[in-house]
Amino acid sequence: MKLNSRRQMKKRPVKGRVKNFEEVALGFDEKEALEEAKRCLQCKKAPCVKGCPVEINIPKFIKEITEGEFSEAIKTLKEANSLPGICGRVCPQETQCEILCTLGKKGKPVAIGALERFASDWEMRNEKSGIRTLDKKSKTKNLKPIKMAVVGSGPAGLTCAGELAKMGYKVTIFESLHKPGGVLRYGIPEFRLPRNILDREIQYVKSLGVELRCDVLIGRTYTIEDLFQQSYKAIFIASGAGYPKFLNIEGENANGVYSANEFLTRVNLMKAYDLHYDTPIKVGGKVGVIGGGNVAVDSARVAMRLGVEEVYLIYRRSEEEMPARREEIEHAKEEGIKFKLLTQPVKINVDKNGWVESLECIEMKLAQPDESGRRRPVPIEGSNFLIPLETIVVAIGQVPNPLIPSYTPGLKIGEKGNIIADERGATSIEGVFAGGDIVTGAATVIEAMGAGRRSAKAMDEYVKKKLDNR
Ligand code: FAD
Ligand code: SF4
Repeated sequence: MKLNSRRQMKKRPVKGRVKNFEEVALGFDEKEALEEAKRCLQCKKAPCVKGCPVEINIPKFIKEITEGEFSEAIKTLKEANSLPGICGRVCPQETQCEILCTLGKKGKPVAIGALERFASDWEMRNEKSGIRTLDKKSKTKNLKPIKMAVVGSGPAGLTCAGELAKMGYKVTIFESLHKPGGVLRYGIPEFRLPRNILDREIQYVKSLGVELRCDVLIGRTYTIEDLFQQSYKAIFIASGAGYPKFLNIEGENANGVYSANEFLTRVNLMKAYDLHYDTPIKVGGKVGVIGGGNVAVDSARVAMRLGVEEVYLIYRRSEEEMPARREEIEHAKEEGIKFKLLTQPVKINVDKNGWVESLECIEMKLAQPDESGRRRPVPIEGSNFLIPLETIVVAIGQVPNPLIPSYTPGLKIGEKGNIIADERGATSIEGVFAGGDIVTGAATVIEAMGAGRRSAKAMDEYVKKKLDNR
């Protein structure tokens, strides 16, 4: 019974949900959470914990749920993870903790992510402010607050800042945009991550004592050197991979072609879908989104919600190779997005006014795996065909933001523009640490958080060592 009886979260019905940005997955109620939590075997070695980059004590929080001690469960989660409501929603648990769950070897793993989300949502509904302030005893005994700087308020920056604040440091996050959250705010749409959840978890990090300064562009407003001059003892760079890649095909500069970054930012951050805002986005009746990752699937589902006639997801490999989360692929299909698989765009045709008219594509077949381990797509000669489109969204990947690397002399950069850092985030400059997408290239929320957590420990050790040597 324990093996296969995994509970499924309820979802909002398709018909209504494609007309708005309300959350699709609805989470567990108490009964469902208790039933699911009871499936956990409480393994002594708990392999699931090894799959969690921030090392949540998974069996402990699940046991607390089985005992109805939801308040304790959220406390356990927050010891390791300042953003449980976010992770419970967007983490790829199926390839992280859940893939290692003992039950998964013969049946279905425990729904660890859904239980994490449940505990966080329970706290929001039941605890007065939903924001637990720091236990006094968990602060270190630093006599004077030491200043630490964090650049970027995405998951890596928020996690690093939260961990440093828990250790007793005086932490400031510098964020270039007018609102914090990084991709969690301008990339991932509201129907996957409601903004009240994001705002509340950022508020929690602030409640730990972290100062958040928006509209500060590091590299321009201040350089890394300026931050040291302002007495920050160590700096964590978490500026992400927000720079779009393009296809480099004819017609890509036409009106109606967007990078996914621009498209999603305009919708998510500037409310382009709402005519009351003065930053509307022009989207035609037929939209083509190019790519197969989370960014592409999110863009397609956003386009669907802008009231267009048809949305095509155009991907050069097969569905099996799509890097997007399975759950989101299923949601996209339910919502009527048409998958054009094994299809490679070769040219964008443009009308006499410079607007997109159609996309010329070629059919592909799969050959032997390439260096990514996925089967390599090769074109089928003479198989070109046209898809009539008015809008094209290019979602084929992002590369690290180049500003800080290019304005920081002595900072070692990799071939792809990423900052080179060791396992604990130390870079080529003393006192400068880096983590998240700026180091790894576009990856995942929880990997960025894991990097933030490891660097916070390394920064603490670095500063203590410096103080000891004085
Ligand atoms: P970011 O989240 O990119 O944050 C970087 C921050 O730094 C930004 O706020 C930026 O404005 C700021 N910044 C940049 N330059 C400067 C500067 N010079 N000065 C000051 N601030 C600066 N991952 C998942 O795990 N699950 C998903 O479902 C998922 N879906 C995704 C959907 C989309 C549309 C996208 C784009 C990504 C998705 N990802 C997902 C990937 C995940 O969001 C990223 O891997 C993660 O956000 C990286 O975190 P980060 O903190 O390194 O960077
Ligand atoms: Fe529970 Fe699965 Fe973790 Fe074992 S591996 S402790 S069953 S969640």
